[in-house]
Amino acid sequence: MSAIQTIGVIGSGTMGNGIAQACASSGFQVVLVDINEAALQKGLATIAGSLDRLIKKEKLTEAEKTAALARIQTSTQYEALKPAQLVIEAATENEPLKVKILQQLDALLGCDVIVATNTSSISITKLAAATQRPDRFIGMHFFNPVPMMALVEIIRGLQTSDATHDAVKTMAERLGKTPITVKNAPGFVVNRILIPMINEAFFVLAEGLATPEDIDAGMKLGTNQPIGPLALADMVGLDVCLAVMNVYMEAFNDSKYRPCPLLKELVSAGYLGRKTGRGVYTY
Ligand code: NAD
Repeated sequence: MSAIQTIGVIGSGTMGNGIAQACASSGFQVVLVDINEAALQKGLATIAGSLDRLIKKEKLTEAEKTAALARIQTSTQYEALKPAQLVIEAATENEPLKVKILQQLDALLGCDVIVATNTSSISITKLAAATQRPDRFIGMHFFNPVPMMALVEIIRGLQTSDATHDAVKTMAERLGKTPITVKNAPGFVVNRILIPMINEAFFVLAEGLATPEDIDAGMKLGTNQPIGPLALADMVGLDVCLAVMNVYMEAFNDSKYRPCPLLKELVSAGYLGRKTGRGVYTY
């Protein structure tokens, strides 16, 4: 397995441009690919804006910004990924789309290239089985906003080799991140615990045990979290929280993952959180 110098990133949306920024800022050459030229331009503008904010906070110099941007090449053509030793897929969350992308990569990349996916909800083992490099396939689950969030969940599919795991773990450390190693299962570790906790906050609210403000204040001050679970649900999107609970319910067939009826009712009303101006709170 050759040393990782060039990283391909597929998808220039919220996560892809953040991953590209983190890689370029850590000295890697980056090839950022999206099917949509406008998404690439928007991604580059987001990266430049994010680096400017770091300059304002005196965490970065103008010269470092210029150097980081110079390490990012963009393309709408997958052929541009050929120099990469690692490709991180961060395209739209859609299983058939991801399988198609992975098959395109199989045809293009050398057999020693590692392919990682940033998927939040699709089985790493299942995606690995759809590739011709199941042992060199792995999950790299970054958190939003990528340049600010220290955690990367490294998810081993059943087929992932130790060499692939170790190379990706080392690479995550070179990004200045803290990797944790997780076996493939729905929600991995963080969302497996976080989303049921949010769901439980809706049960507590529905039972009238406390006001939303007091539930959030209780969890913030009592467990040292920066934001309460109901305010967090409004940020994540109530529809997303409900969809994740439905995935767990289906996958584990265990009533402990039963979505709270109040959460369902709010979603039915179109009260999805910040993005619709109303969720638990009104914005
Ligand atoms: P997004 O919608 O912001 O961006 C997706 C990008 O993929 C778009 O620019 C789109 O043009 C591009 N794309 C679509 N098809 C493509 C193809 N065939 N080839 C290349 N590019 C293609 O999505 P996002 O929020 O950045 O999510 C990307 C991935 O990251 C998903 O798998 C998601 O589950 C995961 N994820 C998201 C978050 C989050 O908070 N947004 C957190 C962790 C993981």
